[in-house]
Amino acid sequence: MRAADDQRLALPGFINAHSHAFQRALRGRVERRSADHVDDDFWSWRTTMYHDAERLGVDDVEALAAWAYADMVRAGFVAVGEFHYLHHDVNAGPLPQPRLSLAHAAAARRVGIKLVLLECAYLRGGFERPLVHAQRRFVFDDARAFLAHVDRVRAAVPAGTHVGVAVHSVRAVPRDAIVEVAAYARREDLVLHVHACEQAREVDECRSEHGMTPVALLEVCGALGPRTTLVHATCADADDVRRIAATGTAVCVTPSTERNLGDGLGPFGALFAAGVPVCVGTDSHARIDAADELRSLEEHERLRVRRRNVLVRPGAALHEAVLPAGTSAGRRSLGLVDDAGDRVVVRMPVEGRADAAAARDAWIVGGSSSDVLDVDVGGVAVVRNGELVRAPRAAIEDAAVDVLRRLQRP
Ligand SMILES: [Zn+2]
Repeated sequence: MRAADDQRLALPGFINAHSHAFQRALRGRVERRSADHVDDDFWSWRTTMYHDAERLGVDDVEALAAWAYADMVRAGFVAVGEFHYLHHDVNAGPLPQPRLSLAHAAAARRVGIKLVLLECAYLRGGFERPLVHAQRRFVFDDARAFLAHVDRVRAAVPAGTHVGVAVHSVRAVPRDAIVEVAAYARREDLVLHVHACEQAREVDECRSEHGMTPVALLEVCGALGPRTTLVHATCADADDVRRIAATGTAVCVTPSTERNLGDGLGPFGALFAAGVPVCVGTDSHARIDAADELRSLEEHERLRVRRRNVLVRPGAALHEAVLPAGTSAGRRSLGLVDDAGDRVVVRMPVEGRADAAAARDAWIVGGSSSDVLDVDVGGVAVVRNGELVRAPRAAIEDAAVDVLRRLQRP
């Protein structure tokens, strides 16, 4: 039954600017302390992620992407940036078509979410590190081979699927290749995303290889600018933030994933104060919830500086500070100019019935994806009363369960 108008709160469509859809399979499987690790951290989590990455066939990837994207539209996300690096077949051989890219496009179409495929360059295991087995599915021989792949993807994707490029990280892509990928993005007017400064080890290794931080390296490679989004920037220092702001570069943070992985608290306050466009993503999908990502921007910074309303301008309210991160900054990051017909309606928080001015803040602080009632993407109904319109959710979840059962076999 449709909720009465005073019990419905209209919001703009949310943008999920950073996703690895296949990592949806990890939720609940990486919360057990492993017997052979004294300390679990990002790198031990990555071992399980690589276990999955070695095994997933094209149909499995499509099943997991449909599951993740179904959760996203039911959480009010109208568009997703898929940072895609699982390029080759399970035996690491080339696929005749970019079938794994197309699997994401097919999953997005089933559910009705707008997709921006961020085709990701991954060229080596790391600075003086050999490739580990799972990484054989990610790598191209060089930047030319990677960019030829991007050309194939751009020619093959269905209408309505956008394509951008990504550099996995400064550890996975050598300096000359970063220059080439950045030049391609500029020439072709495509967005460029890069994981940067997520881990202290990555910064240390970059300093020893290049004598500078990842952000400084990206700047000398011509990879910063208004078309570029750095993902995480958790370990960015004051000088890095200055470079990011001065070049008009955006930053995508993923608070629920950064918290789940124990990455640390990013410099959210410094980024906001410098006027950097900050957007959000659900990344590893430990949680898929727009309200949670947005309130976490403010709440993580409160924990760090032990103050309240720290990202909020004097006289302004929380939603004015953080809603742009979930909407306009996300669109800019993904190169999406048009939000016509994108619409989200959530259940009105009870507080909002007493004071309409408090409704958005009450939802951001206390709301969740389970409040989402209706979602339209480009004028098309994709969610009504919290349920998918275009595809049966039970079938999507049953297919994902089959994949999970196979992944759990040793
Ligand atoms: Zn990521």
